Amino acid sequence: MDYQAILDRLQKDFIPDTAMGNVAGYIPELSKANPLKFGIYLYAHDGSFYEFGDSQEKFSIQSISKVFTLTIAKELLGKELWKRVNVEPSGSSFNSLTELEREKGIPRNPFINAGSIVVADALLTVLDNPKKDLLKFVRKLCGSEDIHFDESVARSEKKHGYRNKALVNYMKSLGNITNDTEDILDFYFYQCSLAMTCDQLSKAFMLYANEGKHFRTQEQVIDPQSVKRINAIMQTCGFYDEAGEFSYRVGLPGKSGVGGGIVAVHPQHYSVTVWSPMLNDKGNSALGMKVLEELTTLTGLSIF
Ligand code: GLU
Repeated sequence: MDYQAILDRLQKDFIPDTAMGNVAGYIPELSKANPLKFGIYLYAHDGSFYEFGDSQEKFSIQSISKVFTLTIAKELLGKELWKRVNVEPSGSSFNSLTELEREKGIPRNPFINAGSIVVADALLTVLDNPKKDLLKFVRKLCGSEDIHFDESVARSEKKHGYRNKALVNYMKSLGNITNDTEDILDFYFYQCSLAMTCDQLSKAFMLYANEGKHFRTQEQVIDPQSVKRINAIMQTCGFYDEAGEFSYRVGLPGKSGVGGGIVAVHPQHYSVTVWSPMLNDKGNSALGMKVLEELTTLTGLSIF
């Protein structure tokens, strides 16, 4: 597959334009992002890689972090986790309160905010130092020590995270939260503030494209059964209430974040990250979705 020729074509055909969407405004620190940033990095199964644009610049990974925390929680808690969070797609927005009320405090999946907050609570119970352990895990997956939390993003979200405070308190009132709500949100905001490049994310996500093995060392980090499950959740729940649309257009398991990043994997073929901060009205990168749709069309490589 001539990935380079395909990326060259994508770079020529897709030029960011401020009319495409809006940078996330509800977290003030994120609204400072330059809307015209645009990068892509594809890591192929044979170890070759391809990139263009701002692929080496760090951005706020936001909800993409939910895949990492779910992976750790699943390893440590196994099936117990599924007593507190389901694996059904959500037809509501990622921070919906009404949906949580309908579901009696059991979030529909671990990739909406309520679900990831439950995962954060579970990790607080089983880990001595969740922030440190998360950093260690992500650094290992990428083979890079140069990964950090962005304190200003975490602080900004903590100050304005009224909706997440409502979600955690509502779940607490229904008995689905065990730790102190402030501690849980502190960890949750920090996980979302992780700053990473397209390069680092694509390498980390090779875990899900390579049967649970590390992209470089080939160490078995998680078992293939876990990868099967996590990819299924990414496929059905990775794009908020636009998961069906992403499946239809792109046809890959993936996860987006309101920082404008999208990571998608094609098991046995590649892992790819695109970053463009302008979001559509569902909170997904507008340009990112278009580019990935074209990538799977030109390569003929979607999972369907
Ligand atoms: N930190 C964001 C929030 O909780 C994450 C949202 C996202 O990327 O979907 O609202």
